[in-house]
Amino acid sequence: MIANANTQRHVDVLIIGGGISGLQAALDLGDQGYRVMVVERRPSIGGRMISLSKVFPTLDCASCITTPKMSAAAHHENIELLTYTEVDSITPGPDGHTVVITRKPTYVNTNKCIGCRMCEYACDTEYPDPFEEGLGSVRAVSVAFTNAIPQKALLNPDYCLACGLCLRACPTDAIEFDQQPRQETIGADAIIIASGFQLNALTVKPQYGAENSRNIISPLALERLLAPHGPYGRVLRPSDGKIPGSIAFVQCAGSRDQTIGVPYCSRVCCMYAIKQAMLLSGALPTADITIYYMDIRAFGKGHEQFYQNARAMGINFIRGKVSRIDPADHDDLLVHVELTEEPENFLRKQRHDLVVLAQGMIPQWNPSEVSPVRIGTDGFVATPDPASPCSTDIPGIFVAGAAAGPKDIADSIAEAGAAAMEAGAYLYRHHVADKRPPTVALDVALSPVGARSG
Ligand SMILES: Cc1cc2nc3c(=O)[nH]c(=O)nc-3n(C[C@H](O)[C@H](O)[C@H](O)COP(=O)(O)OP(=O)(O)OC[C@H]3O[C@@H](n4cnc5c(N)ncnc54)[C@H](O)[C@@H]3O)c2cc1C
Repeated sequence: MIANANTQRHVDVLIIGGGISGLQAALDLGDQGYRVMVVERRPSIGGRMISLSKVFPTLDCASCITTPKMSAAAHHENIELLTYTEVDSITPGPDGHTVVITRKPTYVNTNKCIGCRMCEYACDTEYPDPFEEGLGSVRAVSVAFTNAIPQKALLNPDYCLACGLCLRACPTDAIEFDQQPRQETIGADAIIIASGFQLNALTVKPQYGAENSRNIISPLALERLLAPHGPYGRVLRPSDGKIPGSIAFVQCAGSRDQTIGVPYCSRVCCMYAIKQAMLLSGALPTADITIYYMDIRAFGKGHEQFYQNARAMGINFIRGKVSRIDPADHDDLLVHVELTEEPENFLRKQRHDLVVLAQGMIPQWNPSEVSPVRIGTDGFVATPDPASPCSTDIPGIFVAGAAAGPKDIADSIAEAGAAAMEAGAYLYRHHVADKRPPTVALDVALSPVGARSG
C-alpha cells in the first residue's frame, strides 16, 4: 500500500539522479543560492562513478574524486537529498512542474539510525551484493557500501527472515518492519534529468556464452575486482578463485550492432578497457592481456597518449571481430576471432582464463513513461536544439550526463555545469524577472549563497 503524505513542498530545481552529473548540477545551483532537491533511486548517491576503481586518462582514484562531491552535496545548506526514492510522474505546467515521488521503505527509521552497523553485524542472512556486481555478498540488513551517503542501514525484505536479531542489536530502536512506501508531491520550477546509464545484459549476444560461464564478466565487475576494497581484495576469477594468467577484452560486445538494437558507439569502452588492462598488468605483472577491437576510439583529451602508453606496456591489441566464445576445460574460454587486417589465416582461436565483455551503454531510465519528455531513437533523452544542448522538448526540463547519451566523466561534469547554468538562467527569466521589479531581481541574482532559500 502506498501512503500519500499529501505534502506539497516546493523547490527551485529538482534533479533526478544522484550520480556525478546530478551532484555537480546540484552543487553548481546550490552555490548560486537555489534550493535544490536530488532524487536518487538507490540507497546512496554517487552513481556509477563511486564503484569504479580508477579513472582514465589520469588513473586517479575514482572514490577520491566522487566522495568529496557526495559529502559536499550532503552537507550543503541548499541541497536536500532523497535517496531510495522513485519518480512516479512529472506534470509540466506554466508555473512550474509537479513531480510525484515515492519514498521506498528501508525498514529502518533514518532519523534514528546512527550508521553503527550493529544490525548488520547481528544479521546472519546474506545475498549477492549489488554494489560488488554480485561477486561478494551482503547482509540482509546493511549500509549500502563503506562510503555510502547517507550512512544508514537498509533492510532487504526479499532476504530478511524477520528473525529479530537486528531488532535486538539496534541501540536506537531504528528497525521498523511495518514501514510502507510513501508518496509525496513536489513542486519544482525546473528539473534536470541526470538518470545516467546502465549496461545491456551480459547475455545480449548468446554466441558469447555468458550464460554458461562465470568467467565471462562485465566491465563493472572487473572495476570491483580491481578496486582496493573489492570483493576478493585482489583479482581472482569468479568460478574457482584462480589468479587469471590470460585475460581477454572483447570490445563492441553490446554496441555498434543493429541486431541487438544498439547501433551507436558507447564511447567509453575503448578507454575503460585500456585503463583496466593497464591496472591488470600492474596487479598481475605476468598475465597475458589481449584487447580484441574493431577500432580504437581514443578521441578525448589525453586519450591517444593513454592508448599509446598501453601499447608500450605490452598489452596485446588484436584488430578483429570476436564471433563466438566457447567453454574450454578447466573453466577456461576459447575466443574465436576474425582478424580484419590479415587476409590469410584470418580465423583464430585463442584460449583465455577470463573474458571481459564491453557491454553497450543504454539509458537507465525512460522519462517518457512518466512525463511528456521525449526520448530519441537511441532511447536517450532527446536534445532537439544543438544551440542549447542540455534542453529537452519541455521548457524548464533539462538533461545532463549519460542520461542524454554515452559519456565519460569529464564530459558528464562539463554538461552538468551547462545544465545548471541553463536551469539558472531559465529560473531567472521565468520566476525572478517575471515576478519582481528588475532592480530587486538583480539584487537577488547577485546575492551571496543561501540568500535565495526560504
Ligand atoms: C566499466 C566502466 C568504467 C568506466 N570508467 C570510466 C573512467 O575510467 N573514466 C571516465 O571518465 N568514465 C568512465 N566510465 C563512464 C562513467 O561511468 C560515466 O561517465 C558516469 O558514470 C556518468 O555519470 P552520470 O551521473 O551521468 O550517470 P550515472 O553514474 O549512471 O548516475 C545516474 C544516477 O541516477 C540514478 N537514477 C537513474 N534513474 C533514476 C530515477 N528514475 N530516479 C532516481 N534516480 C535515478 C542512478 O541510480 C544513478 O545513481 C566508465 C563506465 C563503465 C561502464
